[in-house]
Amino acid sequence: MASSLVIVYHRQPYEEDVENGKTVLRENASPNGIVPALKGFIGRVARASWIAWKKSPAGKPPKFERRIGITDSFGSYDVVRLPLSAEQVHQFYHVTSKEALWPILNAFPSLYSSANTDWATFREVNRLFAQAACEEAAPGAVVWVHDYNLWLVPRFVRELRPDVRIAFFHHTPFPPPDVFNVLPWRDEILDSLLACDLIGFHIPRYARNFAALAQSLRTVDDIVERDVPAELRGGRTALAEPRTPVCIRLRGHSVHIDATPIGTHAELIRATVQRPENLARAAQIRAELGADKLIVSVGRVDYAKGTREQLAAFERLLKRRPEWLGRVKLLLTAVAPAEGMTAYRATQTTIEQLVGRINGHFGTLSWQPIVFSTTSMPFTETLCHYRAADIAWITPLRDGLNLVAKEFVAAHVNDSGVLVLSEFAGAAVELADAVLVNPNSISQMDAAIDRALDMPINEQRQRMQRLDAVVCQRDIGHWTRHMLAAFGALRRPQGGKA
Ligand code: UDP
Repeated sequence: MASSLVIVYHRQPYEEDVENGKTVLRENASPNGIVPALKGFIGRVARASWIAWKKSPAGKPPKFERRIGITDSFGSYDVVRLPLSAEQVHQFYHVTSKEALWPILNAFPSLYSSANTDWATFREVNRLFAQAACEEAAPGAVVWVHDYNLWLVPRFVRELRPDVRIAFFHHTPFPPPDVFNVLPWRDEILDSLLACDLIGFHIPRYARNFAALAQSLRTVDDIVERDVPAELRGGRTALAEPRTPVCIRLRGHSVHIDATPIGTHAELIRATVQRPENLARAAQIRAELGADKLIVSVGRVDYAKGTREQLAAFERLLKRRPEWLGRVKLLLTAVAPAEGMTAYRATQTTIEQLVGRINGHFGTLSWQPIVFSTTSMPFTETLCHYRAADIAWITPLRDGLNLVAKEFVAAHVNDSGVLVLSEFAGAAVELADAVLVNPNSISQMDAAIDRALDMPINEQRQRMQRLDAVVCQRDIGHWTRHMLAAFGALRRPQGGKA
């Protein structure tokens, strides 16, 4: 069936379990994050399809239906599952995406490695996604491609279906040209992105980096810019961008550029944390941990998340301010990577060693400074942890946005609490009332955690109120309406080729 919106995202839009030998599909346990955010579009367009991959033995017909019809709380839509072999998944996702592209996106060029990369497989998987999307798209449909592991999809779609409108959204940072140009496939990637009608980023800084890249590698006719709206300027001027590109014109083709950060489901988070059983759970977490000050840090095992730097700062805190010994606790969740992913192995070992060292050195029989887990918590449990904590300590070295920061604010429902946030997280451009910090600076990290621990309750409330207003106003509904309006403004077909 022809769809007016084709979402191309590598993950399936539901969780799949096997029960009594039968496959059961469940709605995602978390109502927050990329998948539910994208599902929010389903009920708002005439008809939607979703393209994802599913593992299948090489050279054999897949043991599952390629296309399934889903009806869930978001509406009815079709899901097309691309059968990929274990080797294709390994190359496309674990190796090329995580060992070569991820370090570049996050500006860690020294960690870039193409030693094991088979670009031909990466390209082929992208072509398969594009083909499946084109088979789904109605004339003039919007094909909306998500994230860097599908960078090559737009060019294939443009060749197969010149009539559709192609949009792309980067959920990651986008690095400056000097870093991006490390990639040996930079021209192919850029050509593909320039085949889009619309490219979305979370924040103006990433959009500017992309425009600078296009300008450095291609003959661009014109770049149209505008002032960055006040609500995206952040509290710090050092990393703020005064102007943002809105359109790149080249060879008669216009690529619209948008920088609008994704929002969180603030209303739902507020309602969830205020349910009596969840308030009780938050109180129980607090009582069990028994600390005067509870600091929460939630993320994945990833060098870009800055957990090593954070643990070093926590160790310094315990040395610098012994009055906190026995009274402060860091609740650290760093979710371990999926099986088969080697890109973050060294980071995981380092984190585990540091936690062991700090707990071993400062802990007593009755008090451990760090409670550490690499297991993902269910979303409601995560919210209860935010609610129980006094401080959210979120200091990635680089992060496309960071939803945890917004969720922590929503979970505190206008009450006290302190958000310490890296200025290198995309969310910092909106959350100017957080304690913003450069995680690369030892003195700033020390000062920021001191400030959070010592902040008077009135100041906490005032800051939290202002943060809450932003998080509620610029929530997921705001982002959805904004993106739908951006799709509506795209004209098809355009005259020339990219
Ligand atoms: N999360 C969760 N359980 C955990 C850890 C994280 O539900 O144990 C959720 C968290 O609430 C957030 C998402 O995972 O919605 C992480 O998104 P974020 O943008 O902060 O980071 P990413 O992993 O996308 O870089």
